[in-house]
Amino acid sequence: MIDKDLVEKGLKLPVMEAFYTIQGEGTFTGHPAYFIRLGGCDVGCVWCDVKESWEAGKWPVLSIEEIVQGALEHPGRLVVITGGEPLMYDLNPLTSLLKEKGFIINIETSGTHPFSGHFDWVCFSPKKFKEPHESIFERADELKVIVFHKSDFDFAEKHAAMVTEKCKKLLQPEWSRSEKYINDIINYVKSHPDWNISLQTHKFMDIP
Ligand code: SF4
Repeated sequence: MIDKDLVEKGLKLPVMEAFYTIQGEGTFTGHPAYFIRLGGCDVGCVWCDVKESWEAGKWPVLSIEEIVQGALEHPGRLVVITGGEPLMYDLNPLTSLLKEKGFIINIETSGTHPFSGHFDWVCFSPKKFKEPHESIFERADELKVIVFHKSDFDFAEKHAAMVTEKCKKLLQPEWSRSEKYINDIINYVKSHPDWNISLQTHKFMDIP
């Protein structure tokens, strides 16, 4: 089978980078985790800090066995699958193999493609640049909205109305606008206590 067919079946995936670090944001902040950043994204956020991930063809295509082997080389057993937009691919084979090896698996996604894979924690981070696919709403464990503009508070509430009640709701300042919006975010969370704040603590610690 050629690579294109294997990628379509989720048996091989373009990997931009994979590295062991500390999860810097969201509910799992502070947990050591092996990040698997898949190449390819068609969302086009203007403030994206990984624009180099967008073109899938730039990155080596690895078998799921190779990807899992990389994760096994570190002591932590938490994996975060991110991108790019990881749900552009069928994630069932990769997550099944990771589960077989005993990993806890999280995903960070814009939710713009049909859901696939077996996850312990789903971080849904909707973007204004592409509508989410309906399959994400019932799967989301965490709704993380990046605040880049004052209209993002309404955007956050619009998506909060679509996820389930158990879903955690987080507002996270976009890094370059942190100073501009942090007070608005603090005041918003104080008056809307069902929301919490998420910060990109890895950027404060200067780790990937
Ligand atoms: Fe960048 Fe993520 Fe937006 Fe894609 S969805 S453009 S990777 S921020």
